[in-house]
Amino acid sequence: MNNDMPDKLLRLSKSCLSNLEKQAVMEVLDRGFLGMGTEVQQFEKVLTDFFGRPVVCVVNGTAAVQLAVQACGIGLGDEVLIPSLTYVASFQAISATGAKPIACDINSDSCNVDWRDAERRLTVNTKAIMPVHYSGGVDGLDEIYNFAERHGLRVIEDAAHAFGSEYQGKKVGSFGDVSCFSFDGIKNITSGEGGCVVSDDPIVIRKIKDSRLLGVENDTSKRYEGKRSWQFDVKSQGWRYHMSDIMASIGLAQFNRFSEFAATRRLLACCYDGLLRNHQSIKPLARDYNTVVPHIYVVRIKNIHDRVALQSQLLKHGIQSGIHYQPNHQLSFYRDPNALPLPVTDAVFPELLTLPLHPDLAEEDVEFVVKQLTVAVQ
Ligand SMILES: *Cc1c(COP(=O)(O)O)cnc(C)c1O
Repeated sequence: MNNDMPDKLLRLSKSCLSNLEKQAVMEVLDRGFLGMGTEVQQFEKVLTDFFGRPVVCVVNGTAAVQLAVQACGIGLGDEVLIPSLTYVASFQAISATGAKPIACDINSDSCNVDWRDAERRLTVNTKAIMPVHYSGGVDGLDEIYNFAERHGLRVIEDAAHAFGSEYQGKKVGSFGDVSCFSFDGIKNITSGEGGCVVSDDPIVIRKIKDSRLLGVENDTSKRYEGKRSWQFDVKSQGWRYHMSDIMASIGLAQFNRFSEFAATRRLLACCYDGLLRNHQSIKPLARDYNTVVPHIYVVRIKNIHDRVALQSQLLKHGIQSGIHYQPNHQLSFYRDPNALPLPVTDAVFPELLTLPLHPDLAEEDVEFVVKQLTVAVQ
């Protein structure tokens, strides 16, 4: 053992699994059917009750976004407005359809997309706006919907961070146009890998049910009866993006634990907020944890000189930290020399730091993180 190493590592994020998930997976394995069947059907039913709207489960959140964009009839030659400050998955999902993601600036307080900036980037090819609910926050969503309505745009929400968050008394996903969620290992609930699309647009839902199964029409209902189509027609590009029964069984077990996860995430985020309230240079995001279920806990550190050094200092004390996200307009694949600048994203990004947040942390852990961060920032 290296004596310099702390005895405990506080992970930035992690999957929180119990015997319930293990048991659920064992039952599926014992049945000897691992594909898309009754477990997926059941997970979709439970999620449909949760959101009060039709849900289609897919292999991951990136696939959910890609299929949602495609199901809205958006593709080659079209443009989708999206905040630059998001996981590259959102950008890749859009460009996978042939459409062009147009990087937009953010509001510095919320780190959510600034629709006024998005408005400056409208062209005749703009078909949709994709708000990303950064860290779980959904500020100003009604203004984004108003903006979209004025310009005849679809709204495809990247709600990967916002499972369980509420906006104006309604769950994210229970209102609006199309919402995409991720159930990857570290999200608010996981199905191992996985994702879903929620919408009350029957065309979007039907198209995704087909496109996740290689474009084979109406194969979903056959799969749920333990059958499949042997003779069929295909009329559009599809993918093998369905969810498996193994994944859905984990998702169902996690769903039953969600209220417990949500309460812990909220408690820990409030604890961070309280401890950092009066700090001069470390500024938490403005979030109301009565309505937001936080996926990550992000702070802005004003005038930080060396973020890399700060991160390694924290790691010496056993504290993992992260950076969400490398802005996509800075990536070679998405860089556009003709695009308008993104001054807020460029100014905010270097100051962002994500602190550990997951349901296996205790309040003492948060106190320890804040103590070490406060020392390291001085
Ligand atoms: C996790 C995530 C995704 C993609 O979800 P996967 O399930 O990992 O494919 C998309 N957008 C954002 C903002 C995410 O955090």
